[in-house]
Amino acid sequence: MRDAEAVTFGGGGLDRAEDLRRHPGELAALPARTLPLWRGKPLIGAARDGLALMEGHALADHGTPVLLGRVDGAAIFARDVSTLAVEGLSDELGAFRDESEQTHPDLPNGAAFCELRRMMTHLSPRDAELAATARGMLEWHRTHGFCPNCGAQTQVGKAGWMRGCAGCGRMQFPRTDPVVIMLVTRGNKVLLGRSPGWPEGFFSCLAGFMEPGETMEAAVRREVWEETGVRVGAVSYLSSQPWPFPGSLMLGAHGTAVSEAIEIDPEEIAEALWLDREELAEVFAGTHPRILPARRGAIAHFLLQSWLADRLA
Ligand SMILES: [Zn+2]
Repeated sequence: MRDAEAVTFGGGGLDRAEDLRRHPGELAALPARTLPLWRGKPLIGAARDGLALMEGHALADHGTPVLLGRVDGAAIFARDVSTLAVEGLSDELGAFRDESEQTHPDLPNGAAFCELRRMMTHLSPRDAELAATARGMLEWHRTHGFCPNCGAQTQVGKAGWMRGCAGCGRMQFPRTDPVVIMLVTRGNKVLLGRSPGWPEGFFSCLAGFMEPGETMEAAVRREVWEETGVRVGAVSYLSSQPWPFPGSLMLGAHGTAVSEAIEIDPEEIAEALWLDREELAEVFAGTHPRILPARRGAIAHFLLQSWLADRLA
């Protein structure tokens, strides 16, 4: 797919500076800038169109710095400042749609912690990549404090890109979990589904976690069959999207259906249906009588829009 990296969180071109992870002396000699995150929410500047990077090792009383990369000769670090006593606590925190913003007197003027899914389409590709990397890395650190082998505490190494066990010596590295998300078509029609618990009218591409021992193609066929009873033949790769909520990599694929009858598994999916191009165009225009447009920024929106515009090849 020609414009595959035009997807949100794609094509940031960040220099991840792997060399600096191995050379702490060189890293310490560079000017530093810090991206603080509070409960996974990055600090966004006053104009709400970019990250608010702070000078040096700001807020150094909180968390452990994680090197994100090198930008304009400076080393950029993420730092988990969830222990900061912020203003603006809200019931929306952790919700699917968190519109709340948190502030603190030590932050730059007008800057606030904002939910990344709300901000992602307003950020430059570079800032989106920094924010996605920071969010994924800090969540990995938050949940890997103990060794999965012997249960002893682990310690951070390699500028944040490794955790080592003091007990048995086992090393852990940041991981990302592959998820297949598929545009399943049959002629002029595309298959969409609605998960239990989603808002009424919200449909999207089918998706599911890959299993050990499975190819991407097999995962696409299995998930579509399990959820809808539709058989998929040829599968091809389209585009991928880092999705750090909390640690997925979405693998966008195109599957050609070889059967049409839908029989849903009600435990996995609330409803599935075929839409033709004309109906999908209505959905995107916001004029469809019962189906809402997919969320901008998510790869499902990107794949559906690309199919509609005949841009898959
Ligand atoms: Zn251990």
